[in-house]
Amino acid sequence: MIMQGKKGLIMGMANKFSIAYGISESLKNQGAELIFTAQTDYFKNKISDIANEFGGHEVILCDVSKDGEIENAFDQILKDIGPIDFIVHSIAFSDKNELLGKYYNTSRANFLNAMNISCYSFTEVCKHSQKLMPNGGGLVTLTYYGSEKVVPNYNVMALAKSALETSVRYLADDLGEFWIRVNSISAGPIKTLAASGVGEFSKILEYERNRSPLKRNVTQKDIGDACTFLLSDLASGITGEIIHVDCGCNTIGVKF
Ligand code: NAD
Repeated sequence: MIMQGKKGLIMGMANKFSIAYGISESLKNQGAELIFTAQTDYFKNKISDIANEFGGHEVILCDVSKDGEIENAFDQILKDIGPIDFIVHSIAFSDKNELLGKYYNTSRANFLNAMNISCYSFTEVCKHSQKLMPNGGGLVTLTYYGSEKVVPNYNVMALAKSALETSVRYLADDLGEFWIRVNSISAGPIKTLAASGVGEFSKILEYERNRSPLKRNVTQKDIGDACTFLLSDLASGITGEIIHVDCGCNTIGVKF
């Protein structure tokens, strides 16, 4: 029960297939009490039963692309629940029509929107995290290997993830003096709502299964447990890191 007595916020659970669900399950199994935000009423309804089971708090609406919504959500949590110990940012978006084919066809509008939702929102979450976590704490965001090497069809999302990973290092430096740690998990591919927007996603899954040293795809539980570790006191000396949880796939260069 390494999270006993700790409270935290989960941003980005759409349904039971979300990576955020695996993270929530692991955190709850280790004793954490959870609070959730949702992008829209549609997602709020979808996850309210889970939120009830995992913490008993009402789901708070927060569309991270809209000015002021992150700060308002954090103010509401502080007022209704009080200070917390960790925040999970499991949010990304791109128009799925631009996650297929050549990267250079990315439109300016989708480039900016993908960067705004998938990268800038985490900066804003970190900026306002100090008042929610006055005694220090941990933040984790989710990234993907497409930020490091070309993965077909990942396109603009790869750029957003590269920027997100760089921001993790800068934010870790900004927040270290407030005893807040900032890390990221580079997760292997998992079939979720967001992932189904990436062209030929089943080929990415198959490629990882065949090439990874562990000879399987990563699971929600693998990612959830790694995230719980990063948010726990067991990881008290780790900040600014990108931890790969992908069955070792990223370590393979050439394989015959
Ligand atoms: P998901 O569809 O279950 O979750 C994505 C979430 O982002 C949804 O809950 C959605 O509501 C939220 N979101 C999108 N726009 C938003 C906005 N404007 N305001 C608030 N929330 C918004 O998919 P997932 O795969 O669980 O994605 C979670 C994170 O994991 C993402 O950052 C994704 O890039 C990352 N990731 C996924 C994989 C994978 O293969 N599934 C691999 C590595 C990293």
